[in-house]
Amino acid sequence: MAVKESFPGARDEEDFVGASSVVLRGHGFGPDSSIACLAICRDEICQSLALHVDRVWGQPFNLAGLAGMIFAGKTGFGAARSHSPNLDGRERYVFFAAPHIAIGAGGEPGLCERVHRNGPSSACGALVALLGEIQNGQLGSTDDPDDVELGLIRQRLGTRLLNDAGQTHDLLSLTGAAHDMIREDLERTVAVTVDPAKADHAVITGVQIHGPGGRNYFQPRTAYAVENGKRHELDLSLEARA
Ligand SMILES: [Zn+2]
Repeated sequence: MAVKESFPGARDEEDFVGASSVVLRGHGFGPDSSIACLAICRDEICQSLALHVDRVWGQPFNLAGLAGMIFAGKTGFGAARSHSPNLDGRERYVFFAAPHIAIGAGGEPGLCERVHRNGPSSACGALVALLGEIQNGQLGSTDDPDDVELGLIRQRLGTRLLNDAGQTHDLLSLTGAAHDMIREDLERTVAVTVDPAKADHAVITGVQIHGPGGRNYFQPRTAYAVENGKRHELDLSLEARA
């Protein structure tokens, strides 16, 4: 089917959250010992991931804005850290981060339907807007006070891709580029805010996909845990629910 052709390894979103929690438990991360931190788009069709994470981990700390881009910065990461359980003397953070994309029934990137709304819709709207500007070779304003988040996305992701001469982009490649920047921002901010002597953390990134019929999927792209400063890759392929 179209979702799995475009996103190999994508699986039902709830199964993905369940499987990742089982794997993370094996590394000492659980709802009583860890805080979940989430970077997903503001779009309402993305919030199912927050609900699944909430069911397993408790309410997650929100790090992101439009397109799942991380705008919380050191202040936001610092707040999340200071909210972590620590009864055993150690803090633990589990980061989930992903841009999103809809895939239509015929495999059309970006196409989705929304309940109680006439006509086709698109997702991610912020990335669709940016894609149009990149294809025209001209980015919109980066400092419009009435469009702060898209301005930040243009400034960072837009500028990077526009300067990447010779590369053409479509929504799939732009979503991949957004994923890479979100992961980069996450890891850079973790590096300056997390002290491995005092805390463990796990990073799970990927792409959230809205398939036909309102079904959501997740394609993991990065999964690791850092315990006592040592990195362990995580295999999220097991078939399990929490
Ligand atoms: Zn979006």
